[in-house]
Amino acid sequence: MIRPKELNILGKEYKVVYIEEVIDAVGHHDPYPAVITLWNGMGDYDMFMTLLHEVIHAIDSMVDINLSETKTSVLAVSFADFLTRNKIIEL
Ligand SMILES: [Zn+2]
Repeated sequence: MIRPKELNILGKEYKVVYIEEVIDAVGHHDPYPAVITLWNGMGDYDMFMTLLHEVIHAIDSMVDINLSETKTSVLAVSFADFLTRNKIIEL
């Protein structure tokens, strides 16, 4: 999987930072400044799912739909499954 260093999410530029040690979680989203942090030790599928999870948090922070952590996780797992099962993205 390509590990992007920058992402545009709904028109907002995010930096993506890869860390070598897990601090509190394998992924983190911070809207100010716009940074997504990911643990570099994950395999491709877990990295993709965690990236989707953090992108959903980013979208939630911009459109303010107040997704719970559980709903965010369910959406991330569902999108990862949909995109890989239908070979839209191959990891
Ligand atoms: Zn989360």
